Amino acid sequence: MKLICIGRNYVDHAKELNNSVPEKPVFFLKPDSALVRNNKPFFYPDFSEDVHHEIELVIRIQRLGRSIPERFAHRYYSEIGLGIDFTARDLQREMKQKGLPWEIAKGFDYSAPVSHFIPLQEAGAPGNIGFHLQVNGKTVQQGSSSEMIFSFDRIIAYVSGFMTLKTGDLIFTGTPAGVGPVEIGDHLEGYLGDRKMMDFFVK
Ligand code: ZN
Repeated sequence: MKLICIGRNYVDHAKELNNSVPEKPVFFLKPDSALVRNNKPFFYPDFSEDVHHEIELVIRIQRLGRSIPERFAHRYYSEIGLGIDFTARDLQREMKQKGLPWEIAKGFDYSAPVSHFIPLQEAGAPGNIGFHLQVNGKTVQQGSSSEMIFSFDRIIAYVSGFMTLKTGDLIFTGTPAGVGPVEIGDHLEGYLGDRKMMDFFVK
């Protein structure tokens, strides 16, 4: 399975990193070795001094598809969860400056903690699913699918035009504003609406 991550899908986040707002979705991949499940800890890597949290809504693909028309995209997912797209911002900055791929900044071990998944209808209307991240009890990021530049359906249509989506693939749908560094010992809690979905420590 693969992890597909959408970049710059919230206007406020694109601005906070001085990026332009894209006309088409921007996406990149993480390997399945980046996955962390069941609230296991995030182990801070020794090659970065500036790892940032990015909380994101994650949808799980439930059937095989390629070149999926946007109007049929809703048939390809029915569950939603939360994920953190941990990013080594210092390495990412360096790679961006050189125009090189981002994998070392985005695809490292433990860089993709994911919650359990719940049926989409339990999370509310697909166009208005609220979520937030607390670090040490303080809300640091807050967003809603209503603020996404590209909808779940649009993302599926776009990505599947380039690569086949398979059952079990996960799509991280982008992070709202408020990204920031984590430190060893931090306690992270992710909420979908008021339902706690993630609860883990940085070690
Ligand atoms: Zn992200």
